[in-house]
Amino acid sequence: MNKQTTDVEEILQKKGVKPTAVRMNVLNFLLDQEKAVSLKDIESVLSRMDRSSIFRTLKSFEEHKLIHSIDDGTGMTKYAVCAEGCNCELEDLHYHFYCISCEKTFCLMDHPISTIELPKNFKMIHANMVIKGLCDKCNK
Ligand SMILES: [Zn+2]
Ligand SMILES: [Zn+2]
Repeated sequence: MNKQTTDVEEILQKKGVKPTAVRMNVLNFLLDQEKAVSLKDIESVLSRMDRSSIFRTLKSFEEHKLIHSIDDGTGMTKYAVCAEGCNCELEDLHYHFYCISCEKTFCLMDHPISTIELPKNFKMIHANMVIKGLCDKCNK
């Protein structure tokens, strides 16, 4: 067992997710990404796994606050690993960036969504903030 496998196992256990081979593979892949990925992206890389077990794995990761899903307006849900200590609460929400050229979606973890003054008796539950533009590689 290499170092990375141990880490992935540890991360899963810490979040209360039973480390199965499928889960470890999916998490390993997600941790390697600099961008958010769709179910299709994962499927094309981990092609030996069937779609429904990858989907179930993503749902269980999401429930255990290991990853968060992103609606970047493309119609395809993207997933990204949460920062350490993330509880997927309002204060953990951050901006996302969608590059219109390479069509990659990034987490802007350093840019939390600030709370805004809402009308009386309105309650914020979630916010979906996506900035569209060109990423550093496409903006050359
Ligand atoms: Zn780009
Ligand atoms: Zn994110």
